[in-house]
Amino acid sequence: MIFAHDTEISLAGAAALVNTTDGGEQLPDLAALDAFYRTWQWTGRRAGTEAELRAVQRLRPRLRQVWEAAGEEQIVVLVNELLREGRALPQLVRHDQFSWHLHAAPSEAPLATRMMVEAAMAFVDMIREDELSRLRRCAADDCDNVLVDLSKNRSKRFCEAGCGNRAAVNAYRARKAGRVRP
Ligand SMILES: [Zn+2]
Ligand SMILES: [Zn+2]
Repeated sequence: MIFAHDTEISLAGAAALVNTTDGGEQLPDLAALDAFYRTWQWTGRRAGTEAELRAVQRLRPRLRQVWEAAGEEQIVVLVNELLREGRALPQLVRHDQFSWHLHAAPSEAPLATRMMVEAAMAFVDMIREDELSRLRRCAADDCDNVLVDLSKNRSKRFCEAGCGNRAAVNAYRARKAGRVRP
């Protein structure tokens, strides 16, 4: 494990949220948001309204900015903005099956606010550990997805949408066709 467990989940969840724009809108309605919420083991208050859905959708380009930022200084500015806007107040909490971890927004705060603050807190950990190089864009030419490399040997290059497999298959076909020497 590179970071604390809750930080790693938050980072992976933030990348997954940003990537819900992959190949079209993957969070088109409340049912899709419900599924995302369950998949990423979110807890806390849900409004279950269109406004909630829109707020979550609007958060995505803001989080993507962190991946697209020009460097550490710019990321720090972005993260501080997110923390301020979400009025982050770190508190240790224990709930459901999860042991002590940090929440920096109250569980009754709007979902998009909690998602924003949680992502920002996870970026804080990355910055403090000087590990921002683990924030990457997918290496596939035709993919705009983002990823967080949580591997020990910093080897992750492709997003979770199967780009790594596609790249491997393409490379294999290219070798077989004799266009590229092994
Ligand atoms: Zn929690
Ligand atoms: Zn990809």
